[in-house]
Amino acid sequence: MINREESHDEIGDNHIGSCAQNPLRKDAFDLSDDEKIESIKKDVKNILLTLGMDLTDDSMKGTPNRVAKMFVKEIFGGLNPDRKPKASTFDNNYKYGEMLVEKNIIVYSTCEHHLLPIIGRAHVAYISNGTVIGLSKMNRIVEYYSKRPQVQERLTMQIVQELQNALGTQDVACVIDAKHLCVNSRGISDIESSTVTSEFGGKFKEAQARREFLDYIKLETKF
Ligand SMILES: [Zn+2]
Repeated sequence: MINREESHDEIGDNHIGSCAQNPLRKDAFDLSDDEKIESIKKDVKNILLTLGMDLTDDSMKGTPNRVAKMFVKEIFGGLNPDRKPKASTFDNNYKYGEMLVEKNIIVYSTCEHHLLPIIGRAHVAYISNGTVIGLSKMNRIVEYYSKRPQVQERLTMQIVQELQNALGTQDVACVIDAKHLCVNSRGISDIESSTVTSEFGGKFKEAQARREFLDYIKLETKF
């Protein structure tokens, strides 16, 4: 029998995500960004002091503040719904009825089990049913959901759900191929392995559309 703490460790080490939404508390936004930065600054300082670092050293004295700002405003900035990109959509005036693929969108995220980077590429596709979305909006949606403590499976699903809502169609797909530094740089230290996740909605559940999408991802872009 394993105790509760061990079972939590095991969930983390095996990178199993526990739900489709990020586990946020109800009071997640009671504090302002500045209040969060002040609080996290103290916590980072305490970690470094506990490790025995001399924080009067010129190189490190700004570290607690830098890390706190980076957490709140950058790498976990996508937790705050105020930062959600406006999904401006348009009528599909040119009646393009085929699949649109935005591939090689760079993903910078953070593993919620180890707080180490997840770095990779997302490939997103949809088939318009009358509505289209600006191409860069797809990159922004990927970026927004990436900037959270994440598991890759959840990130993949969130991107698809967001685009399904914005476009009013189930016909959306996403594949992410990413390296997890918690696997590549520590633990098993396998620098070559990467993790692939996919979510296929609507027509992408059918073999033909899925194959077409996966073939487009393999295309090498020459210019
Ligand atoms: Zn991890």
